[in-house]
Amino acid sequence: MASLPFIIAGGGIGGLAAALGLAQKGIDVVVLEKAPVLGEIGAGIQLGPNAFHSFDYLGIGDAARAMAVFVDQLRLMDAMSGEEICHIPLDAPFRARFGNPYAVVHRGDLHGVFIKACRESPHITLRTGCEVVGYEQDGSSVTVRLASGETVLGVALIGADGLWSKIRKQVVNDGPPRVSGHTTYRSVIPTERMPEDLRWNAATLWAGPKCHIVHYPLSGWKVFNLVVTYHNDAPEPVAGKPVDEAEVLKGFTHVHPRAQDIIRHGSDWKLWVLCDREPVENWVDGHVALLGDAAHPMMQYMAQGACMAMEDGVCLADALSTHDTMAAGLENYRARRVLRTTRMQLMSRAMGDHVYHPAGPHASLRNELMSSKSQPQWLETLDWLYGGNGLD
Ligand SMILES: Cc1cc2nc3c(=O)[nH]c(=O)nc-3n(C[C@H](O)[C@H](O)[C@H](O)COP(=O)(O)OP(=O)(O)OC[C@H]3O[C@@H](n4cnc5c(N)ncnc54)[C@H](O)[C@@H]3O)c2cc1C
Repeated sequence: MASLPFIIAGGGIGGLAAALGLAQKGIDVVVLEKAPVLGEIGAGIQLGPNAFHSFDYLGIGDAARAMAVFVDQLRLMDAMSGEEICHIPLDAPFRARFGNPYAVVHRGDLHGVFIKACRESPHITLRTGCEVVGYEQDGSSVTVRLASGETVLGVALIGADGLWSKIRKQVVNDGPPRVSGHTTYRSVIPTERMPEDLRWNAATLWAGPKCHIVHYPLSGWKVFNLVVTYHNDAPEPVAGKPVDEAEVLKGFTHVHPRAQDIIRHGSDWKLWVLCDREPVENWVDGHVALLGDAAHPMMQYMAQGACMAMEDGVCLADALSTHDTMAAGLENYRARRVLRTTRMQLMSRAMGDHVYHPAGPHASLRNELMSSKSQPQWLETLDWLYGGNGLD
């Protein structure tokens, strides 16, 4: 098992986390990335304390912390009244409870930390322009086929090739992802363009009927990340299409002017129609296993997709280094990850329905329930989520 490398399809956050985890155990890894250049889209990402447990395990804790903005609050605003519903303080009791802070980071900065660490590892080879199209296996090795016609031989294959995973197609074969009908628009603006009275050190969510707005500072407060989402029953998956402001505003004509105005400060908007999948548990086929969005794509409403992908990488490395055979290691990884990621997939949908997008009495109930919780109650509620570390 030691002489051939592990092959990882996909050089996103999940694939690189898995590569670093395996390399730390002395396992050689080849990452095959479809894109000609390794990179991430220019937008922000929220990181719960569980992400920092993963960074530390993977040996990139200090570098990741150096890129992060440590927000003070998770703040929930009512997009109809323009008033705060509640906020969760992310101060000392929060950090003490979960052993780490909550932060926001530019995706490109974070991905850069992963790439640098991978390049510095003698166990990791990063290859770009390598689109994986399928695999064959014989019980002791896996032959990975590329679109170019080349084949790459490995002891095992990890499918970390995202939402539209080719490896999942072969392992699970459950058709295309579910189109949610929710359209997200993203913009990153210089901090000066954000109104001063909204330059909060918080991950802020304005929740309205069938729509919401998220904003937070990034990259040492140089820029603000704006993400606005509208449930408009969009029928087709779309990724990264440039759109004008008028199109973005269409979904927000019914919300308070204070919320609407935030959108007017954006520029260079890009559109995504969001997809997810039903949870499945058959992530492993012989020496092939799925990881990250390839295994459990979810709506973004728990802000945990990338955090789960990193936890997967940590768990995979731990499982393989504590089991004697490939079959036992991969099965242990699968068994430890399925229920937590299933919960995250289902909770993400539920958060959309009950927190981000309700209207009328449903929204009033949300306001009542969420504003009546004390901080100790919030910490208790969030324990299952931020108390995890991929090793449970
Ligand atoms: C609007 C939005 C906001 C989000 N916010 C957050 C957040 O705040 N916090 C959080 O934790 N998560 C968040 N997420 C989720 C997060 O972005 C994803 O869960 C995470 O990026 C998944 O990482 P991954 O490596 O599994 O997949 P991906 O990031 O999709 O990476 C897959 C990689 O595989 C490559 N690839 C694809 N096909 C092939 C192939 N055939 N061969 C080789 N390579 C291939 C791709 O080019 C890519 O590099 C958000 C998602 C969205 C849409």
